Amino acid sequence: MTACPDRLDAIVARLASVLDSNAIIAGAAVGAGYCGDATDERGAPPAIVFRPRNTEGVAAILSACNDAGQALVIQGGRTGLSGGARPQPGEVSLSLERMTSIGAIDTAAGTVIADAGATLQAVQEKAADHELMFGVDIGARGTATIGGNIATNAGGIRVLRYGMYRAQVLGLEAVLADGTILSNLKGLPKDNSGYDLGQFFIGTEGTLGVVTRACLKLHPKPRSRANALCALPSLSAAISLLKNLRKQLGPLLSAFEVIFPEVYAGVIAHSGATPPVPSGAGMYALVEIQGQSETDDEARFAAALMVAYENGVVSDVAVSTSMREYAAIWALREGASEFIFSMSNMIGFDVGLPISGMQSFIDMASRDILIADPDAQFYIFGHLGDGNLHYLVRTDWHERVADAAFAAVARCGGAISAEHGIGLDKKRWLPWIRTPAELATMRRLKAALDPENILNPGRVFNMKATAAEYV
Ligand SMILES: Cc1cc2nc3c(=O)[nH]c(=O)nc-3n(C[C@H](O)[C@H](O)[C@H](O)COP(=O)(O)OP(=O)(O)OC[C@H]3O[C@@H](n4cnc5c(N)ncnc54)[C@H](O)[C@@H]3O)c2cc1C
Repeated sequence: MTACPDRLDAIVARLASVLDSNAIIAGAAVGAGYCGDATDERGAPPAIVFRPRNTEGVAAILSACNDAGQALVIQGGRTGLSGGARPQPGEVSLSLERMTSIGAIDTAAGTVIADAGATLQAVQEKAADHELMFGVDIGARGTATIGGNIATNAGGIRVLRYGMYRAQVLGLEAVLADGTILSNLKGLPKDNSGYDLGQFFIGTEGTLGVVTRACLKLHPKPRSRANALCALPSLSAAISLLKNLRKQLGPLLSAFEVIFPEVYAGVIAHSGATPPVPSGAGMYALVEIQGQSETDDEARFAAALMVAYENGVVSDVAVSTSMREYAAIWALREGASEFIFSMSNMIGFDVGLPISGMQSFIDMASRDILIADPDAQFYIFGHLGDGNLHYLVRTDWHERVADAAFAAVARCGGAISAEHGIGLDKKRWLPWIRTPAELATMRRLKAALDPENILNPGRVFNMKATAAEYV
């Protein structure tokens, strides 16, 4: 499909008196950045990028596009990893990049109202200025936006302690395809007065409406923080460590990440960092605590790790003793994405699994992938505490490797996306793990809220079911 110039001219003419002069970029002025997200694939350059300044502007754009049957791709920071923000032929872009305000912090309630285009980092920094913290953190914090985070129900490194993005959203403002504004920013922790409409927009990847503002929950800033890098013999030892630390530390435990040996060695070689514990172990785990007692927390953490060392669960451990060491240990984990992005021919699977089935998944997936491509190389890391692995494969055979990986996910009772979403890139496999009844209900919701199918069409699923879904 190509954009129809007459239709676009009519939309622009209708919006001329509503939007300011910086709100529309068109033709050759549309930069290459608008053509994709953080995946390698580029989409069709959008003929127009709409950049409204406020919710009313978003409503006017959607109403005009809806009346004209003009499809839009919604774009936040474009750090997505599933192609959701990648424009398709004929789509115009709606970018939230100019809606970046963050309101005053309500310190009594521990909440803040932020515009959809504000970056995650800006919210984190504002909270920190008031001795508060935001519960979600991801590597793309400096560019990813609040709207994109909500649309993807972002996870990240502290889900174990604070939950997914959904758990941070106390109220939402969103615009439906026809321009209707739904605003509930009261931020009440308890509100069962009818349907919680905000839930429609969390994790639905921009298919049901455009998020414009959100009331976000903040937490007391931790006074004590420490992390440790543990070397362990195996994944099963890491799972035992997780179980033991949860029992001994309770809510003090704030992150539990695993790094498989190939990624650990790769990050060290790629970054030139000094390894906190030597390479050569069967598994590495990064564990973190966040608490309020500067005197007791670190001692409890050290004691719990000592028990794990004495029991042989952990073979080596480096505990941070300063903020510099703490940051260096986290830098190593964040280096995993950089190391992965430095390699060509990678395909990534962000899978959710029952922790008890994780080893079976790895065994099954690697066996079947090696049948599909005997030269495949595996790189694995992830958020073990949340049952979420980033399972990456270096291969020339992306389609057949994806089939093998997702078949293993389905057989192990897992999810084909734990946190990055389905977007355009994973929708072919969604029927493998969601029932026809579930998919039909998703389509009914989409048809009810976006009858002209103008918002991110073809993301997550196509409106028309294919025969393959019923196999
Ligand atoms: C280095 C790196 C590390 C990452 N780490 C993590 C991680 O740990 N956990 C994690 O969950 N993700 C992670 N991601 C993925 C990505 O950052 C998240 O998916 C993020 O939430 C996307 O936000 P964004 O603003 O960039 O959205 P975009 O990429 O612009 O869009 C993502 C999707 O949301 C839709 N969308 C965007 N804004 C809105 C809006 N206002 N209203 C409605 N729909 C909208 C888009 O149409 C698209 O479907 C990482 C990415 C990178 C590059």
